Amino acid sequence: MHDVIIIGSGPAGLSAAFWCDELGLDALVLEQAEEIGGQLHIVHNPIENHLRVKTKNGKEFLERITADVSKADFDLWTQTTIESIDLNAKRVTLQSGETLQAISIIIATGVRRRKLGIAGEEEFQGKGIIDSGKLERDLYKGKDVCVIGGGDAAAENALILSDVCATVTLVHRSKRLRARREMLEQLQTNHCITVFTESVVTRILGNEEVEAVEVLRKDGLKPFQIAVKGVLIRIGVEPNTELFANQLQVDERRYIVTNSTHETNVAMVFAIGDV
Ligand SMILES: Cc1cc2nc3c(=O)[nH]c(=O)nc-3n(C[C@H](O)[C@H](O)[C@H](O)COP(=O)(O)OP(=O)(O)OC[C@H]3O[C@@H](n4cnc5c(N)ncnc54)[C@H](O)[C@@H]3O)c2cc1C
Repeated sequence: MHDVIIIGSGPAGLSAAFWCDELGLDALVLEQAEEIGGQLHIVHNPIENHLRVKTKNGKEFLERITADVSKADFDLWTQTTIESIDLNAKRVTLQSGETLQAISIIIATGVRRRKLGIAGEEEFQGKGIIDSGKLERDLYKGKDVCVIGGGDAAAENALILSDVCATVTLVHRSKRLRARREMLEQLQTNHCITVFTESVVTRILGNEEVEAVEVLRKDGLKPFQIAVKGVLIRIGVEPNTELFANQLQVDERRYIVTNSTHETNVAMVFAIGDV
């Protein structure tokens, strides 16, 4: 029996755990991944918007905020898979068969990158699917690449890759890109970048590695291929709510609905952070 079970150990879950410790509550943090930190592991840009903390990337930020995790008095279990959860009963059953009980549950499961769900997306992971423009751009020096998406992340990666790549083709399904105005201006004046709007990538093709993408324009009858060596996908994120979505009020995008004190519609169940 615990006072609080916190699900997820990203910045939100860890903040909650530190506060529980401060308040003398017995808290247990459950994390499915091998390491704590959540999305901080994929933040490669400097973090500058937190009071008195400026770090060169997410990992350094994580080191700063967790410098005294070992001194804090809460339990933290990584590589822990939750099999099921009963929010009304505040009961969590782990894949190992163990059952945990709490007075309160805090959901801090964050978000994950949305996938396209097209052929080649999984097959070419590490074989031409680019995870980060910033970290991998030198691997694609002088090559043709495709970026899929129309928001800030897609535009930013297209601009980063355009510094070294021969060509960058940006493919976006809607009529307008959602990226910030300053990025749009840079895209428009960048001769290395071609933008296809109202178009979708239907397949990623290749043998051992990525060799092309198949693109279908909204007004086109037949898909056509563009030869590329790399594909970077940034089509937004989705919340990690599969475990509880049927027990809680969620919005149309499956994010958890809370009030201003982060209470959900289930008593003593709270949701914090990106989720
Ligand atoms: C490229 C990039 C750059 C960013 N830059 C900035 C920035 O400069 N400044 C800023 O303020 N923010 C930035 N962010 C956003 C910031 O990283 C997120 O807002 C923050 O990580 C959200 O924290 P969280 O704890 O809510 O969720 P997450 O960080 O997503 O963590 C959720 C955790 O829950 C775990 N989890 C999920 N499901 C389960 C489950 N069923 N059981 C157990 N564990 C589970 C996950 O494994 C993960 O560890 C950036 C994000 C990205 C991707």
